Amino acid sequence: EHAKVRGSRHNTGDGHRAAIDLGAQAFGQWTGCHATPIDIDAPAVGDLQVTDQMPRRSYTLGITVNVDGNRFVDEGEGFAEQTFVKMGQAILEQPKSIAHQIFDSRALPHIEARYGGSKRVQAETMRGLAAELGADPDALTRTVDSFNAEAHEDEYKPRNLDGLSTETLGPPKSNWAIRLDAPPFTAFTVTGGITYTYGGLRIDRDGRVLGSNERPISGLYAAGEIVGGIFYHNSLRAAGLMHGSVFGRAAGAHAGAAVRGQA
Ligand SMILES: Cc1cc2nc3c(=O)[nH]c(=O)nc-3n(C[C@H](O)[C@H](O)[C@H](O)COP(=O)(O)OP(=O)(O)OC[C@H]3O[C@@H](n4cnc5c(N)ncnc54)[C@H](O)[C@@H]3O)c2cc1C
Repeated sequence: EHAKVRGSRHNTGDGHRAAIDLGAQAFGQWTGCHATPIDIDAPAVGDLQVTDQMPRRSYTLGITVNVDGNRFVDEGEGFAEQTFVKMGQAILEQPKSIAHQIFDSRALPHIEARYGGSKRVQAETMRGLAAELGADPDALTRTVDSFNAEAHEDEYKPRNLDGLSTETLGPPKSNWAIRLDAPPFTAFTVTGGITYTYGGLRIDRDGRVLGSNERPISGLYAAGEIVGGIFYHNSLRAAGLMHGSVFGRAAGAHAGAAVRGQA
């Protein structure tokens, strides 16, 4: 209910509903979505002028905490290109679907340029930062202290998986676990922006929509985001357009053949 949508405001499920009313089978992970961390002030639905400026994917540096001041995800599991979908979903599952990305002066020069336009909070101490964020100073200080106790004294090399990891912390930080102790500290508040959802209709190899009896519904085809069962829990970059093209072509070929009486 707190989620922002990165895509069209017109995609509200009409196609799904119409097909399901015809007996189409709902399929895939209806609780899952492709998401990304985005600026808390991003528009509620996609806006072509600004949507591309809204992702906030430098979380591999520094730490990410929820509104209670606790870490909740391995920020350094891999490069952001590999993990931002999981990170976006994890943020959506946090209280109020809000998180704070916290950097120190060592990390800040490495963050993406598109953070430039977003609101930031800065303080010389972690307690001061917590106060500015409206977070519990004790909880945030505890989180940072326990992170720093296992983090390394090193420099950021954002394009290398540096293997600098925590040892016992839960959740761990598997790379770029570098001490967060060089003031000033800067926080950006983010939420998860939904790109597309994973649940949808069941189709066969020809893009025909299957009914709950597993048989194709005559004359009904689907391809693209309306299809379910393509992704579960995570998805690959650029795979959205790819599966739409693959199944769109298959559906078109079958529909054409059916019209010619050849299917
Ligand atoms: C911000 C963003 C970035 C993305 N980046 C990538 C990327 O880098 N690579 C990639 O592969 N994919 C990306 N995607 C995903 C990709 O855009 C989608 O997978 C793809 O557009 C899906 O195509 P589609 O035709 O299934 O649905 P859509 O492109 O969403 O088309 C559905 C159309 O139906 C219309 N519609 C909805 N309801 C009705 C109705 N009741 N009556 C009439 N019309 C209706 C909508 O207005 C819309 O025009 C991105 C998506 C977003 C939102």
